[in-house]
Amino acid sequence: MPLLFRFGALSLVLIVLLGVIVGARLRAIIEHRNITNTRQITTSALNFVAQQEFSVDMSAQSSAEQMRAMQDSVRALMASHRIVGLDAWLSPGLLVFSDEPTAIGVTEAPSPGLAAAWRGRSGSELLRTGTAGASPHERQLLRKYGDLMEIYIPIRVGGDRPLTVGAEAYVPMRPVEAQISADTHTMVLLLAGGLLLLYLGLFRLVASASRRLRRQSAENRHLALHDTLTGLPNRALLRDRTDQAVVASRRSGRYVTLMLLDLDRFKEINDTLGHHHGDSVLIHVGRRLQQLLRDGDTVARLGGDEFAVLIPDLASPSAAQQVGEKILAALDEPFDVDGVTLTVGASIGIAHAPEHGDGFDDLLQHADVAMYTAKATHAGVSVYTAGTDAYSRARLALLAELRAAIDDPAQLVLHYQPKVETRGLGVTGVEALVRWQHPSHGLIGPCEFIPVAEHTGLIKPLTICILNMAVEQAAAWNAEGLHLPVAVNLSARCLLDLEFPGQVATILRAHGLPAALLELEITESSIMSDPDRALEVLTTLAAMGVSLSIDDFGTGYSSMAYLKRLPIHRIKIDRSFVTSMDSDPSDLAIVKASIELARNLNLGVVAEGVETERVRVELQSVGCDTIQGYLVSRPCPAEELRPWLDQHLPGDHDDCCIVTAN
Ligand code: C2E
Ligand code: MG
Ligand code: MG
Repeated sequence: MPLLFRFGALSLVLIVLLGVIVGARLRAIIEHRNITNTRQITTSALNFVAQQEFSVDMSAQSSAEQMRAMQDSVRALMASHRIVGLDAWLSPGLLVFSDEPTAIGVTEAPSPGLAAAWRGRSGSELLRTGTAGASPHERQLLRKYGDLMEIYIPIRVGGDRPLTVGAEAYVPMRPVEAQISADTHTMVLLLAGGLLLLYLGLFRLVASASRRLRRQSAENRHLALHDTLTGLPNRALLRDRTDQAVVASRRSGRYVTLMLLDLDRFKEINDTLGHHHGDSVLIHVGRRLQQLLRDGDTVARLGGDEFAVLIPDLASPSAAQQVGEKILAALDEPFDVDGVTLTVGASIGIAHAPEHGDGFDDLLQHADVAMYTAKATHAGVSVYTAGTDAYSRARLALLAELRAAIDDPAQLVLHYQPKVETRGLGVTGVEALVRWQHPSHGLIGPCEFIPVAEHTGLIKPLTICILNMAVEQAAAWNAEGLHLPVAVNLSARCLLDLEFPGQVATILRAHGLPAALLELEITESSIMSDPDRALEVLTTLAAMGVSLSIDDFGTGYSSMAYLKRLPIHRIKIDRSFVTSMDSDPSDLAIVKASIELARNLNLGVVAEGVETERVRVELQSVGCDTIQGYLVSRPCPAEELRPWLDQHLPGDHDDCCIVTAN
C-alpha cells in the first residue's frame, strides 16, 4: 500500500505539472488566436467597406456630401464590428478621416505601426489607459472604453491614382479579454477533465497490477515456505523457526525439541491403492499431527513420507518422549481415505537443543540418527543419545575429519581382496574394502569409522565416494581386458534411499562400466530396518543389471521367506562360521545349512574368512563355489593386486576372469 500511495502522489504531482505547462501553452495560443481573429475580422471588414465606399480620391478635397455618406457607412461598419474609433492617415501624417470629424486635418508624426501600414503591412498593439503619447482622440476613447486594441490596416483607395491610407481602428479589449477568459475556462475544464481521467485510469491500472503482484508475491512466499501437497511448512520454514527457537531458548533456559517422523507402511499404500490415496494419507497425517499439537508448535513435511515436529518451548526433555508416544498413538487410529480405512505406523527420532545441537542442521541430523535407531529396533520413539561411546568427543572430532576426507578423496583408499573358485581355478571377482589414510593417525580400518559414519548422514556421501573409486578402478581393469567384477559394501542407509539406484546408474555411466561388473554387498540387518523400501531399491538395482549379495550371512535375523523375495544373486557366509568350521562342528553345521539353503534358492555361495587349506578343502567337499580369505590373498591396493592377478590368471584375461553366474 505505501508503494501505491507513493505512486498516486507522485503521478498526481506530475500530472498537475503537466496540466500547468499545457494549460499555460494553450492559454497563450488562445490569447494569440483571439487577438489575431479580432485583427483579421476588423481588417477584412474595413477593407470590404473601403472597396465599396472609399472610392473618393483621398488626395483631393472630398465634397461635404461624399464625406457624410462615407461617415454613415463607416459608422455602420463600426457598430457591427465593435470598432469604437477609426482614423485614416495619409502619408506622411495627415488625418484625412476620423469618426471624430473635428480632428480631421491635423498632422502628426506617424507611429511605427502606421508607417508599416503605409508600406502595406497590417499590425496591432495594446493601448492601455495612461499610455504616454496617446492622441486626444485616443485618450477620449481610453477613458470611455478602457484598454484598447489599436489595429493598423493599409487601405487602397482611389480609382485612377490609388494610394495607401493607413487606417487606425480601435477595438475595446474588454470583450476580447472576456472571450479569452471564456475560452481559457473551457480549455481548463477540458484539460483538467482529460487529465483527471488519465490519472484515474493510470491509478486504476497500477492499483490492479500492484494488487496482482502483491497476491502473486504472497503466493510465491507461501510456496517457498510450504509444502504444496499438505500446505504444511517445508524444510526452509522449519529451519528458520528452529533456529529462532534455539536463540530464544538460550534466554529462557528451556528446551527446543525437533522430532523426525517417518511413516512405516506408506509405500504399501502408495503401491496398492495408488498415489491419489497416498497423497490423501499424507494430508490426513499432517492434519492429525496439527490437531494434536499446540499452536506454537510446527508440523512440517520434509518430503516423501517424512514429517518433522518442532516444539520450541519444553520445560524438560522427558516430556518430548511422551509427545512422541502420543503422536504414535494418534497415528495408530485408522484413517478414512475416500471410504477406505487405512492405518499407518511411524518411527520417531527426537533430538533436543541445547543437548544435541544448537542449530537446525545438528538437531535434524541427530533426530535422523534417532529415527533410524527407532526404525531398526522397532522401538517406535527413540531419543538421540549423545552420551554413548559412539558419540564421544573423540568420535565427533573424527567425524569432522572424515567429512573433510570425503571432500579430499586422496585420504580414502580402497584395498581389493580377490574371490576365487573353491576348486582353485579362476578369480571370480574382487571386493573393495575402504581404508582411511589419516594425515596423522596413519591407515585406519573401516571398523573404526564406518559405524560412526553409519550413525550420521555422512555414510551416504562416503558410499558414493567409495563407489566412484571402485567403479573407476573396475572400468580401468575392464579397459585393459580384465573383466573383473568389483564388489562394494553398502550401508543400510543406501537401501532406504530411493534415489540411490539413480546415483549408481550415473556413476556407471560416467565411467562406462557395464552394470554386470558391479556387485553390491548388503547385510541382512540393513534390509530388515525397512524391508519394503529395501526391496524397492534392490529390485531397481537388480533390474539395472547390478548383482547383489547378502554379506555376513548367518549373523542377522532375516526370515527365509524374505530371502526368497529378494532379487539377490548370492550369499556370503560370515567368516565367524567359516574360519573355524574345521574344528567347531556347530560352525560346520551352519555353513552346510547355509550352502543347502542357497542351493535350494538357486543362489551362489561365497565363504568369507578362509585362512587355511583345510577349511578350503572342507568347503569344497560341502559344495561351496567361491572362497575369499587370507588363504587366497589379504586385501591390498590395486597396484599390488595387479601382479597377483597376473600370476593367478592364465595368459588371456578374457577367458580366465569368470563373472559369476547371476
Ligand atoms: P566385510 O564386507 O565382511 O569384509 C570382509 C572383512 O573380512 C574385511 O575386513 C577383510 O579384510 C576381512 N577378511 C577377509 N579375509 C579374512 C580372513 O581370512 N580372516 C579374517 N580374520 N578376516 C578376513 P575389513 O576390510 O576390516 O572390513 C571390515 C568390514 O568393514 C567389512 O566387512 C564391511 O562390512 C565394512 N567395510 C569395509 N569397506 C567398506 C566400505 O567400503 N563400505 C562399507 N559400507 N562398509 C565397508
Ligand atoms: Mg563385504
Ligand atoms: Mg562379510
